[in-house]
Amino acid sequence: MNILITGGAGFIGSHLCKRFLSEGHSVICLDNFITGSRKNVESVLENDKFKLIEHDISNPIILDEDIDWVLHFASLASPVHYMKYPIKTLKSGLNGTHNCLGIAKAKNAKFFLASTSEVYGDPLVHPQTEDYWGNVNPVGIRSCYDESKRGAEALTYAYMRKHDVDVRVIRIFNTYGPNMQINDGRVVSNFIVQALNNEDLTIYGDGLQTRSFCYVDDLVAGIRKLMEVDYKQPLNLGNPGEYTVADLAKMIIELIGANSKIKFELLPQDDPKRRRPDITKVKAMLGWEPQVPVQEGIKKTAEWFAEQLKIKKEKKEKVK
Ligand code: UDP
Repeated sequence: MNILITGGAGFIGSHLCKRFLSEGHSVICLDNFITGSRKNVESVLENDKFKLIEHDISNPIILDEDIDWVLHFASLASPVHYMKYPIKTLKSGLNGTHNCLGIAKAKNAKFFLASTSEVYGDPLVHPQTEDYWGNVNPVGIRSCYDESKRGAEALTYAYMRKHDVDVRVIRIFNTYGPNMQINDGRVVSNFIVQALNNEDLTIYGDGLQTRSFCYVDDLVAGIRKLMEVDYKQPLNLGNPGEYTVADLAKMIIELIGANSKIKFELLPQDDPKRRRPDITKVKAMLGWEPQVPVQEGIKKTAEWFAEQLKIKKEKKEKVK
């Protein structure tokens, strides 16, 4: 297959590029490198079946190749980043999705949208099922992300109905693992990097808000399975294990054996209080459920971050 992946040099996109190449498929990776990094795809740059194009998918692009799948994973997904670049975030969710759907329509390709648990906002239904319509503040500081993904879903289903594009939509719940940036700003990477540096862990608010954390290999396995199945409605992909942010902090300090303490900071506006995926549907449709326990995933991720911090330190010393 010929697979186009937007955000292919990003956290999840880079894992997908490698997975498809390892299966013998051809990959066109689009990235504008705002949060993606060339380093994430360095190991496949020499592969004949890999093509890297620096491009912002918010702008149209004409591609010569035949394409079987368009996977739209380009987005600023960390609150720190999307709040810094709210308009770019909206454009990637709205214009980017529109451009990807246009490519899918023109090439007669299937379209795969990386949507998010954020479409549920600060949910009033717990755990979140796919038929819940969500509780999103349309003008709050998270709306650039939430509403762009809700708009992306709406565009996707408009193209399905109007132009018969074959679509898949996943709602990704907090995912973590290697290839996240050191400065990603999300809770797992922040806590791991802080613990590795023996710095205090920054809990926003009282730390009683909950999240459910999925290791990236599990997510990629779910994505791959959905491509094999004809199911067009949105599916939650996430690990249903639910932790408070305070418990996550304790767990990471213990697993890393750090001397870090906890530092409490202000809770950002509209921060969802509880989040856990109901995965009944995806289990039934794909026979998928996460395999990697959070302790194991965190250990692997911590090892990877430790290596990145070492490389960074060595580079700094060389410059001196
Ligand atoms: N959070 C925190 N400390 C951090 C980063 C995040 O306490 O250094 C909290 C954040 O307020 C939220 C949760 O951890 O309640 C998850 O935040 P993240 O940015 O990972 O993603 P979200 O699920 O909010 O999109």
